[in-house]
Amino acid sequence: MATMITSECINCGACEPECPNTAIYQGGVEWDFNGAKNPAIADGIFYIVPEKCTECVGFYDHEACAAVCPVDCCIPNPDIVESEALLIARAQQLHPETTFGNDFPSRFRTEGAAVPVTAPAATAAPAPAAAPAAAPQAASAPVAAPVAETFSLSLPDANEWEVPINCSRCEGDYSVPFQYFRIGVVFYCPHCTASFVVTSTIYKNVAKTIDGFYARWTKAFTEFQEKRRRELEEFEEKQRQELEGFSAVLKKIAAGANPPGRSHPRLSMFGFQRVG
Ligand code: SF4
Ligand code: SF4
Repeated sequence: MATMITSECINCGACEPECPNTAIYQGGVEWDFNGAKNPAIADGIFYIVPEKCTECVGFYDHEACAAVCPVDCCIPNPDIVESEALLIARAQQLHPETTFGNDFPSRFRTEGAAVPVTAPAATAAPAPAAAPAAAPQAASAPVAAPVAETFSLSLPDANEWEVPINCSRCEGDYSVPFQYFRIGVVFYCPHCTASFVVTSTIYKNVAKTIDGFYARWTKAFTEFQEKRRRELEEFEEKQRQELEGFSAVLKKIAAGANPPGRSHPRLSMFGFQRVG
C-alpha cells in the first residue's frame, strides 16, 4: 500500500529529501509529474503523491520517509494496497534510466523473511507487516568490542540480541532477534496471537540502548587495555632500573674484592711472599 502522511505531521520537513521518487511535497505546493503541474493534495501539512510513491521498493528495504519521521506519521495508506510487482514497475517508470535487477531492495522481501520468535512455549507467527515498514538507520551495526587476548568475555553481534516483548493483551513474554526487530514489522504473540508492531520510536529506543551498551562495553575494554599498557610500561621501567642498580652493586662488590689499579702481592714459587 502507498505511504501516506497523517494529520500528526509537524511539518519538520525531514522526510522530503529522503524520498527517492520525490513523492513528498510541502502542504500547498503543487506536485509535478512528467513535467506537468498538479494541484496540491494537502495544505497545512506535508503530503505524499500516491502515483509517485513506490514504498521505496527498488531503493530501500523500508520506507525512507517513515524511518526519519520523528512523530511516526508516515504510515501505510489502507485505501491503496499495492503489490511489489506493481511498485517496482512504477519505480521503473519513474526512473527509466535505471535498471532494477532481480535483487532490488524491497520491504516485501524483508518482511517476508522467516522471522524466528523465541517464546517460552508455542510457535510465534510472524507475518508481513501491516504497518509502516520503514527501517533502521543503519542499525549501526554495533562495533565488536576489542577484547583482551586472554579475556574470555566477548559480545555477540548486536543483531543476535533477543529483544524481549511483553504482550499487552495477555501479558505473556516472548522475544525476537534484534535483526528482525525493524520498523513496521509485525510480531504475533505466541500465547494469544495479539500483534505487536515495531514503531519508529520503539525501534530507535531499542537500537539506541543496544548501541549505548556496546559503546560503554568497548570504552571499558579500551580503558582497561590502556591502563594495563601503562602499568606494564611502569613495571618494565622499574625493573630496568632495578637491573641497572643490581649491575652497579655487583660491579662495586667485584671492585672491592679486586680494586682496579692495585697490584696483587706476588708469591714466590714456594708460595711465600717475597720480602725486599
Ligand atoms: S515510502 Fe518511499 S517512495 Fe513513498 S513517499 Fe516515502 S520515501 Fe517516498
Ligand atoms: S518527517 Fe513526519 S513530521 Fe516531518 S514533515 Fe515528514 S511527515 Fe511531517
